[in-house]
Amino acid sequence: MSTACTAWLMHQAPTQSADVSLHASDDIPAHATRDGASATAAQSAQTAASTPPAAPAYRVETAQVTHSFSEAATKLGVDAATAAQLARALAGRLDFRRDLQPGSEVRFVFRNDNAPADANAQTNMQTNAQAASQPVAATSASTAASPDDDLPLAVRISTGKTSHDLFLYRNLDGKAFYYGADGQSNAPSFTRYPLAYTRVSSAFSPNRLDPVTHRWAAHEGVDLAAPAGTPVHATARGTVTFAGWETGYGRVIKIKNFGDYSTTFAHLSRFAKSLRAGAQVRKGQVIGYVGSTGWATGPHLHYEVHVDHVPKNPLTVALPQRSGMSAEEKEHFAQQVAQFEPML
Ligand SMILES: [Zn+2]
Repeated sequence: MSTACTAWLMHQAPTQSADVSLHASDDIPAHATRDGASATAAQSAQTAASTPPAAPAYRVETAQVTHSFSEAATKLGVDAATAAQLARALAGRLDFRRDLQPGSEVRFVFRNDNAPADANAQTNMQTNAQAASQPVAATSASTAASPDDDLPLAVRISTGKTSHDLFLYRNLDGKAFYYGADGQSNAPSFTRYPLAYTRVSSAFSPNRLDPVTHRWAAHEGVDLAAPAGTPVHATARGTVTFAGWETGYGRVIKIKNFGDYSTTFAHLSRFAKSLRAGAQVRKGQVIGYVGSTGWATGPHLHYEVHVDHVPKNPLTVALPQRSGMSAEEKEHFAQQVAQFEPML
């Protein structure tokens, strides 16, 4: 017996607003206020006037948070992907909507291009003339560094009441991660599979012949066959936005995870106790049990991963992962923290 399903019918309306502070791409006013950065630039102009031309190895830049962390980060010249990575790393430390108010401030330590390796670290020095790409070019402290070199080495976000720091660490493959000063990553992450399944009974597909309706349609998730009653786990922390019955899906749970991610779990036989809309779930928590409710021809989990409301193949979509450090890496990291923390 086939265990595919017909959940294709249920196109998710874009659910309620994602955490806007995690969206880096929009609503950046052309002339956003950047008091902090302007002050930094003015200050550095003064400093530069009285300083010999030797470029410092590092520079510190500051921006006020007027709308969102991502906006402030991109004002300082960080690309959207990096801003999103930083937002994820910070999301484990503070609640953007609750803690991040206008007047909050972000500070980045960048490596300066072409700086002599032995130059003394000095703050608030601007040496890069590429600021013309910024909307507030005349006084902009932002620079467009080379792609390899434009990641902030250290980040501080101050909310008035408290501050949080992150430090860049590259693993042996050169992949960049951000950790707290203690070397801990509090960034939320995903697991790939929500259950122990026996096989993939129907793949994610832009077009398949539906086994129940016998129509061609997109299959916006993956069907993971498993015995009825198999526990289904949340793949990342999040908030339950729906737990109930929908035509096609049967008993279904929808979770708004962090960032742009949301997940859907369909054809469940039942929900975990006390699971309802509005509930917070943690990664790995049992949320329900495999069944064949709705348009399913046998017990399986229909699982969807949406990124910014677009369904992606759950088996291959890029998912935020956490990377631990070896003892040797931790030692090196601690040296970097000792070097950069005083600059923040
Ligand atoms: Zn399915």
